[in-house]
Amino acid sequence: MKSIIRKIIEFFLPYYLINSGKINKVINNAAEGKIILSVFFHNPSKELFESIVKWFLDHEFKFISADELYEIGIEKKTFPSKAVIFTVDDGWKENKENLVAVANKYNIPVSIFINTDPIENGNGYWVSYLKHSQQKLGTSHIVGSIKKLPDTQRKEIVSQLVTSIELPREAMTIEELRSIKNENISLGAHTLSHPFLVNCTNEDSKNEISGSKQKLENWLGTKVDTFAYPFGSFGEREIEYVKSAGYKMAFSTVANYITQENIGALYKLPRFEVIEHASLKENICRMTGVWDEALNLMKKNR
Ligand SMILES: [Zn+2]
Repeated sequence: MKSIIRKIIEFFLPYYLINSGKINKVINNAAEGKIILSVFFHNPSKELFESIVKWFLDHEFKFISADELYEIGIEKKTFPSKAVIFTVDDGWKENKENLVAVANKYNIPVSIFINTDPIENGNGYWVSYLKHSQQKLGTSHIVGSIKKLPDTQRKEIVSQLVTSIELPREAMTIEELRSIKNENISLGAHTLSHPFLVNCTNEDSKNEISGSKQKLENWLGTKVDTFAYPFGSFGEREIEYVKSAGYKMAFSTVANYITQENIGALYKLPRFEVIEHASLKENICRMTGVWDEALNLMKKNR
């Protein structure tokens, strides 16, 4: 029953939100230089990614890079009007065709944050092993329950699954990383093993954060100074480690606008997530922040 209601909401809510003028209000706030839109992807289809790029271009948004955002953050550049930043997490193999090719076609900057273990060892992402084991073997491991465990236990469970299940490579190779890097595409780090950093020991958290930077710098031969927290999991400890590892900025998954007030907090920059199985209309609502606002309002009124 709940899923039917959910489906009805998902179908009608975007139409309502788009026609209600709420999205135009957000676009006006961006035009007045009150907010920068910050959007992140994982593994979108080419169709969805290109339609999102076109939507921002049709609405005369300017795409800014992580470097430009940093310069705005340290007040070297003024807060822009109608700006959007695109970031991507993990380093999925399909990104090359579906996202990098489109970014190059439209000449727009994108930062991709790389989870280095799957790049290096050719394994799938650990969440994929979990999903696979649930569907095929009927195991009860889900991300939500793993989230509550110390990271040593997550590692044990994942290493057992990796030995019993064979999954094809899901991440790009080191060569592919080298080949996609250009004036549009910049690469940042996203830890070694994609843990919930807050569940790690001090030593492991530090190593996950600095180790992925070192690996990428060795592979690419360039400085890597941007970071994204896996699952948006971080605390004050992680901010300290990210700073001391030499990153200049880090992205969270807090769904919010970048504003003149919060941009100074360069180690917890907010981002709105694109949901890859959802429609373009729903994602327009999500990227402009009106989706969460509407759902929160509905929850409150229930
Ligand atoms: Zn990730």
